[in-house]
This record gives sequence, C-alpha cells and structure tokens, in this order.
Amino acid sequence: PPLRYRPEMLADIPEERTYFLKQYEDWFTVETPELKKITDHFVKELDKGLSKEGGNIPMNVTWITAFPNGCEEGRVLTIDMGGTNLRVCDVYLPAGRRDFEQTQRKYKLPEEIKTGSGEQLWDWIADCLKSFMEDKRIEPPEGEKFSLAFTFSFPVYQSDIKCGVLQRWTKNFNVTGVEGHDVVPQLEVALGKKHLPVEIVAVINDTTGTLLASHYRDPHVKVGSIFSTGCNAAYMEDCKNIPKLQEQGLAEDATVIINTEYGAFDNDRKVLPLTPFDRRIDQQSVQPGTQIYEKMVAGLYIGEMLRLVLVTLCEEGKLLQGQDITRLRRENAVDATFLSIAELDISEGLQDMRVEFEENFSLSPNMHDLKICRYLISLISKRAARLYACGIAAICKKNNALKCHVGVDGAVFNKYSGFKSRASQALREIFDWPAEELDLIALNPSEDGSGVGAALAAALATGCESKGRS
Ligand code: BGC
Ligand code: MG
Repeated sequence: PPLRYRPEMLADIPEERTYFLKQYEDWFTVETPELKKITDHFVKELDKGLSKEGGNIPMNVTWITAFPNGCEEGRVLTIDMGGTNLRVCDVYLPAGRRDFEQTQRKYKLPEEIKTGSGEQLWDWIADCLKSFMEDKRIEPPEGEKFSLAFTFSFPVYQSDIKCGVLQRWTKNFNVTGVEGHDVVPQLEVALGKKHLPVEIVAVINDTTGTLLASHYRDPHVKVGSIFSTGCNAAYMEDCKNIPKLQEQGLAEDATVIINTEYGAFDNDRKVLPLTPFDRRIDQQSVQPGTQIYEKMVAGLYIGEMLRLVLVTLCEEGKLLQGQDITRLRRENAVDATFLSIAELDISEGLQDMRVEFEENFSLSPNMHDLKICRYLISLISKRAARLYACGIAAICKKNNALKCHVGVDGAVFNKYSGFKSRASQALREIFDWPAEELDLIALNPSEDGSGVGAALAAALATGCESKGRS
C-alpha cells in the first residue's frame, strides 16, 4: 500500500527505499476519531482524579483560590527549579498596573545533582540564591526577610500553599531522601545554613505560575500549560466539583487552582496508542510505569524516540548503510533541538541537518537518508503535538470552556516551529470547528510564569490566603 501522507520530500526516492515507512506511519499517526476517543477518556480521568478514590491523574489542589486582581503589590524573590535550569528572579509588583519589573538569572542544573542526595540539591539551590542576592546586592531592611516563592515543577501534595510533599520524581530525576517528604523544611535547612534573609511563603508548580502570569495579562486565559522537558497543565476548578475536598469546610462558591499533573494520564494503558518505542522509553526510564502520557509527548523523550527509531533502521540496514553508529547508540544522545533544527531546514541540500549529524554523531547521511529521517521526525513530533492537544481539549471540555485562551510556556512549544500549528490543527479536529472559524481555543505563548507568576502566588498567599477555607 502507498504511504498515506507520502510527502513531496520523499517523491524522488525509489519506492523500495521507503516502503518500510508505512509501518512507522501506522505507529505514529493518530487520526481524528482516535484523538476524540483519547480526549473523552481523558475527561473521565480528570474527574476521577478529583474523586475521593482518586485515579491515575493526581489533580493536586494548590490552595490558590483566586486569580490576581491587579492590586497585588510588593517585592518577592522567586526560584524555579525546572528540568534543566534553576531560574532566580527578583520581582517587583506595582499595585494596580498589571505590570511588573524583574531581574533574573539562570543557573544550569549540574547533571549529577539530578541523581544525587536531597541535601546536595538543596545546598546547591541555596548557593545559587546566595550568589544572586550578593551579586545584585539584594538586602532586606534590618531584621526583615524577603518573601520567597518556590516553583517546584514536580507533583506535590499540598495541605497548604506553604508546603509540598513530593509524590514522585518525574523527568528522570532521582534525588534520594525527598519523595514522600515536604520539600519546604528541607530547603529551609539549606537556606538557614547560608543565613539567607528569606522566608518561603508559597510552593507552586510551573503550570500554576504560567496560569497566574498569563491570566494577569489576559483574563480570557483559562488554562496554563508547560510543554518543555515535561508536560502538564493547571486550571481553576469549582470546589463543588472536587469530592476529595468535601470534608474541608469549603465555601459553596469557592474555587481553587488544580495542578493536574496529567503527564500521568493512562498509566494503566487504556487508550494511548503505544508503539514498541514507547515501551522501550518507559522501560529504560528512571520510573517505569509512570508518566506514560508525558513520555509520549514531552521534550525530554521525543529526541530519544527518534534515536531509537534511527538505531533500529540502521540495524535493519535501511538507513545510513555501512556507517559507524557508535555515537548514535548512546542513550539520550538526541535531544529535541535536533528535531527542531531538522524541521526548520528548508535548504536544498538539507545542510543544517547534515551538520547536526556530522557534529553530534560523526555520521555522513546521503540525501535519501536525510529525507527519510526528516520524514520520521515529522511523524514523531506531529504525534507529540496531536496527543498534547488531547490534554488541553479534555480540560476545556470538562470545564465547558469551549472558547478560551491557553497560556503555554516551555522551550519546546516556544522554539519548535510547527508545534503550535500542529496542536491547533488537532484541536480543530477534536472539536469539529468549521473551517471558517478561527481557533476557538487559542494556544498562546506565555512567559514569566516562574517570575511574575510565582510572585503573584506569593502575594495571594500572604494577602488572600484564607479565602475559601474556614
Ligand atoms: C512534572 C510537572 C511539571 C511538568 C512540566 C512534569 O514532569 O511532573 O509538575 O509541571 O513536568 O515541567
Ligand atoms: Mg520550567
């Protein structure tokens, strides 16, 4: 059978060099009915996460009960521990202007920290904060402390906004002595050792920060999402829809931001179309059986997905014939930027791709190899974008927010050209928007979740903390 989407770029390659791609198309193509089916199951799973019994998706209550109203004021220090960097910001919120000033610095997270001990991790973070405060000469008035908001982009259980018990590491982190513990006292010990004049007032997720920051500028924003190393989203829920909160004496009409942690969707493998490559990625990950959805879409895994595919095809003699693929065999040797560079390469000779192969893997692909690889990349990232759309669609569907804006942050979303249009196209198919309609659910790039978003959370925590709780 001919390739379903046999694109221009493969047109001049003899059929016998591309027939095997049919199998890859079958694996990586998710057609409209399947998108709809996944979305509907996703809606049920989101609800299950809010129930007393719980489900795969944690649906963590953040205790942030209102959106900022623009009157927030003050100076807040924020730290954001993401998958790749620690970002430290000094944020000033002027009341009533929906604006802010900030200075920031990024510190690259050393690889060994991700799999070391908790103490090493917290000490390293405290060191970064200390050097930031010294370099920028940030000192509180005598005897006072700065509010510190901590963006910790992992699933935590919170009984209050000032604490967060790590449920499990994700994104291949494996720091000992933290799972099952509240991260706040652990970080406080490290901050105390350095005598830093700060007080942790809020622990938030990066998606929550993104939601707050983007809603601050655009009240049509109903969902905040991250598409980066990992993938996740947060939204505002009515407390009456959260059975697991019912004994907490919440006000009838209260609302609260839910950090869904939907990367855990389908951990019980009911609907996602797993390929043999997905199974391998899961098996070789630090925590097999967890974050099944995230492993099919997020930036940390799409490079590895491509690598596994390429190695398989090389071993079968279908690609890069006769070349030494030793360097390509190294686990995680391909990252998401490789895919993004390849898709951006519109030069006649696919020169940028060629350079990437040469520099990263000492490989000299011929023109056919390059075109086939480029096609495989489009299959993998298209699937990621389409599956990503299901999570967003599910949140919107569940909340009857069929017309809204979604604030999205993260390197993969913001730098990978084509990602946004592919995800938007999938939303279009899921909701059957008529061709003449613009995007009813618009995915808008958002920034500064970990700066102003976290600062707003701190302001809400110190000012409006008791709203909705009795
Ligand atoms: C984490 C989430 C986070 C997401 C994006 C996931 O692995 O569990 O807490 O929001 O990555 O950073
Ligand atoms: Mg981040």
